Amino acid sequence: MNKPIVNPGQWDAYIGLGGNLQDPVAQLRLARAKINALEHVRERGFSPFYRSAPFGPPGQPDYVNAVAHVRTSLSALQLLYALQQIENSQGRERHQRWGARTLDLDILLFGAESINLPELKIPHPEMTRRAFVLYPLADIAAPDLTIPGVGALSDCLAACPPQGIWKLPE
Ligand code: AMP
Repeated sequence: MNKPIVNPGQWDAYIGLGGNLQDPVAQLRLARAKINALEHVRERGFSPFYRSAPFGPPGQPDYVNAVAHVRTSLSALQLLYALQQIENSQGRERHQRWGARTLDLDILLFGAESINLPELKIPHPEMTRRAFVLYPLADIAAPDLTIPGVGALSDCLAACPPQGIWKLPE
């Protein structure tokens, strides 16, 4: 087995988790454990779970979403590939854009980096429009968190009311 290439730096990254099939809370708990078990990745915080109304194709069950804060010495691409393996390990199939899925893992933020590669855009391009990302992120991030190229998280929250999301009891 190849050892992952380790960069000298340590990065604070935020990962969005979501799913709406096959017991989503259990899927997200399992994904959380797998993320924390990755080499060179350590969890620093994990938000409450939120239930959110689906968008995209009609007739889907509600989603469950959460955000994890990790510290990692992986590169952003290494982290992306590791997260895609976790998605695949939990039966993720890519049929339809925004279609129902057991598990979706997105890198929301990676330090203060802005990345624009074909396979990886950071900050995640849709995060500032999604209440189900912004509110769990705000639950665990520093109050003065800045989204690179966008601005203050607090301004994003003010522009995106918490409609269609419900915090689940812990
Ligand atoms: P999705 O259907 O939402 O899981 O989108 C998956 C695709 O988005 C993959 O092909 C990724 O390479 C790409 N992608 C671009 N930026 C990101 C990001 N920040 N986090 C996760 N996937 C990303």
